[in-house]
Amino acid sequence: MTPNLPNALSGWREAPRIRPLNDRAPEAHGRYVLCWLQQALRAYDNPVIDAAIRLGNAMRRPVLVYHGLREDYPYASDRLHRFILGASRDLAAGCVARGLTFACHLDRAGRREKGLVHRLGAQAAAIVVEDQPSFVARWQAARVAARASVPVYAINAACLVPPALIGDDVQGRSGFLRRHEPERAAWAETEDEAPDMAPYAGPLPFRPDDLAEGEFAALIGALAIDHTVPVSPVFSAGRASAEERLTRLLTDVLPSYASARNDATRPDGASGLSPYLHFGVIGPREIMARIGTATAGAQHKKKFADELLGWREWFHFQARRLDAPERYDRVAGWARAKLADHATDPRPDSETLEAMLRGQTRDETWNACQRQFLIDGWMHNNLRMYWGKRIIAMTPDPEAAWAAACYLNDRLSLDGRDPSTYGNIAAMFGGSPSDRERPVYGRVATRGDGSTRRRDGGAAWLADAASRPAPQVSVPPVVPVDPYLTGRPTI
Ligand SMILES: Cc1cc2nc3c(=O)[nH]c(=O)nc-3n(C[C@H](O)[C@H](O)[C@H](O)COP(=O)(O)OP(=O)(O)OC[C@H]3O[C@@H](n4cnc5c(N)ncnc54)[C@H](O)[C@@H]3O)c2cc1C
Repeated sequence: MTPNLPNALSGWREAPRIRPLNDRAPEAHGRYVLCWLQQALRAYDNPVIDAAIRLGNAMRRPVLVYHGLREDYPYASDRLHRFILGASRDLAAGCVARGLTFACHLDRAGRREKGLVHRLGAQAAAIVVEDQPSFVARWQAARVAARASVPVYAINAACLVPPALIGDDVQGRSGFLRRHEPERAAWAETEDEAPDMAPYAGPLPFRPDDLAEGEFAALIGALAIDHTVPVSPVFSAGRASAEERLTRLLTDVLPSYASARNDATRPDGASGLSPYLHFGVIGPREIMARIGTATAGAQHKKKFADELLGWREWFHFQARRLDAPERYDRVAGWARAKLADHATDPRPDSETLEAMLRGQTRDETWNACQRQFLIDGWMHNNLRMYWGKRIIAMTPDPEAAWAAACYLNDRLSLDGRDPSTYGNIAAMFGGSPSDRERPVYGRVATRGDGSTRRRDGGAAWLADAASRPAPQVSVPPVVPVDPYLTGRPTI
């Protein structure tokens, strides 16, 4: 049983997902239970919403689901805003269909709201938030919990198996898998909670937005965000697009996943679900349920589960234990020491930030990789490995390489700013040591581009990538310092 939980939550089967963030007593006169969503933007199979409903039912209070979007979160761009607002619109419709009140706020000139979450929290009987181990959600949740006068509970909605069940004594990934694999079946099913209370119809401390699809372009165009990173032409926003991707996974991708997944030249090699997973538009439980009933060979299902659960949830578990999963010091100590030994080696492959950002370096394969980020807002896994390794040689020193990799990934990729971002980049900078000591890399393994270039059709694929028109994204004078590690905007 999780300590310090009220009965409504402690007796719930999803209780291991919950972490109390403070020890305040519930406010008997609160108007509603506030459910503040930041990244788990789905109305169903969402343990954060379900926890709020359970609390609301027990306290005889309705649930208010709130989602807000500001202009000043790091890397805010047309691409990210459009994807998030599309998810938010569908979240709104789903909440209403579930009998919950939904309130959205898009912060903009003429519609500024200062400290809105705190103001909403001041009228609440209790608050539930997401338990996200990276990006803004983590420290924003902590700030709200510190200021609130009511209990704040953080709930994990990102993983199939609640990370807290794994245990803090686990060190490596094999130990993690030994605990994680036997738990999976127990978390395969869930039932959405039903609210007993009528939707909240009382006063709010602001006028909520009602965002209709047709308004997005004009609204986004007027915001003070990065307009040089355009909307993705490939990854459409919203729940219907996630469902289409899931259907395509089952029909086109899964039947050959284990063999096709490493071939970046195949359009049906991978699911393309990561942006939807990152923003919680779809959760791993729903995906795994559909995989379970799909017609595909066991080796393909196993491989998919290894990626979605074995790798993704490992990185979530790791991030949860790190003060700052985004920081270079998470890279394995031996690798940092070796890279430091070679930090002053000559770097004939170094490139400018502009050439890297725009995919115009001297490395044709690297440019093809970067153009997926630049144009599509996503990159194939096999390409990401080459891309991540090569950045070490293209930048002045290892810490600059880390900052550049995180910056390019976070600014351009819809699935960036995720525990998988920093975990995978750390694996590119560390991983298993190679036998040979090389310039620049020390004993950090390098990677060639043969798996793309030498494939049948590889040369044509590279030529095609080079011919794609890319947006002229703005180029800062230097790689910006990771904003989470320095000043953090207030909410
Ligand atoms: C340098 C580098 C940076 C990366 N940055 C990110 C990132 O910012 N965000 C992100 O979600 N993933 C990242 N990955 C992991 C992986 O490349 C992507 O998750 C995957 O390419 C997404 O495409 P997909 O959905 O088609 O994957 P599929 O092959 O269809 O896999 C299904 C799901 O499994 C998960 N998954 C697959 N591979 C991995 C992996 N290596 N690690 C963790 N989860 C995985 C993803 O959630 C993915 O959506 C990175 C990998 C590398 C090497």
